[in-house]
Amino acid sequence: SIPTQRLVIIYNQQTMINAFEAFSAFRLPRLLGKVALVTGGASGIGESITRLFHIHGAKVCIADLQDNLGNQLIESLGAEANVVFYHCDVTVEDDVRRAVDFTVEKFGTLDVIVNNAGISGSPSPDIRNVDLSEFEKVFNINTKGVFHGMKHAARIMIPQKKGSIISLASVASSLGGIGTHAYTGSKHAVVGLTKSVAAELGNHGIRVNCVSPYAVLTDLALAHLPESERTDDAVDAFRDFVGKNANLQGFELTTHDVANAVLFLASDESRYISGDNLKVDGGFTSVTHSLRVFR
Ligand code: NAD
Repeated sequence: SIPTQRLVIIYNQQTMINAFEAFSAFRLPRLLGKVALVTGGASGIGESITRLFHIHGAKVCIADLQDNLGNQLIESLGAEANVVFYHCDVTVEDDVRRAVDFTVEKFGTLDVIVNNAGISGSPSPDIRNVDLSEFEKVFNINTKGVFHGMKHAARIMIPQKKGSIISLASVASSLGGIGTHAYTGSKHAVVGLTKSVAAELGNHGIRVNCVSPYAVLTDLALAHLPESERTDDAVDAFRDFVGKNANLQGFELTTHDVANAVLFLASDESRYISGDNLKVDGGFTSVTHSLRVFR
């Protein structure tokens, strides 16, 4: 049997190794030398992705409609940051084509695209009154916008025989009743596009995945509340509602948690993962909500 003193040494060594690994993992830049384009990268989840990619050594192009927010974000990262902004409406194919070309001109290549831009659309509780122009607007941004990103990233990535395409889906990609019909349909379509494009681009060494978060308190999530009702109290009530209905208790999902999942799919740590929908939902779409035995 191992004497207690020796056990203490082994234990301490293991603790030191664990601490060292944790520290190295934290310190090692995971996207060093990579070039990324993030649509909707000026605010919300996209802003966290931009910041995290930057911290991990990537050169980033933010493609967004909000020039002011995009430029403020770049300023906050410091003058020497390899982060640029391109005004882009993802619903317009030429805008996306130009944003991709601008990124390649600036940084020489494109390794990662994050099709993150999305909207929730106005609430429409009665299908008989759904405004079809609103329905099309949601699909144009959430689905067609994602496809534009996939198509133009593939144009650069196919000759390189590598690349990672990541799109933002949602818990509404797996379940009905969480968003509007348009939002739910458009986000289910993102999972379908992810699988279909992964099937084509696997041959070229390009990985295609999506990420499905539970609710995060961003402008998009708060759009469920009418503007006049977005008081501090209402936001707190909304946060409580989201928290109470979460499966995983004790944490609030943040934009940083979502960005970490995207970072993993962008990095070489996930080099054999493709066609996947990585759920960042604390189990929300894996458990029953109506027939609870354990809670
Ligand atoms: P957000 O509203 O905070 O940010 C969206 C960003 O996209 C903004 O910077 C906006 O300017 C940009 N954008 C909108 N339309 C655009 C267009 N046509 N072209 C270019 N940029 C455009 O939203 P968010 O919560 O950060 O959402 C980001 C993504 O995550 C979306 O695809 C959303 O569906 C998805 N998502 C969000 C949640 C959530 O609860 N917040 C949950 C699941 C999935």
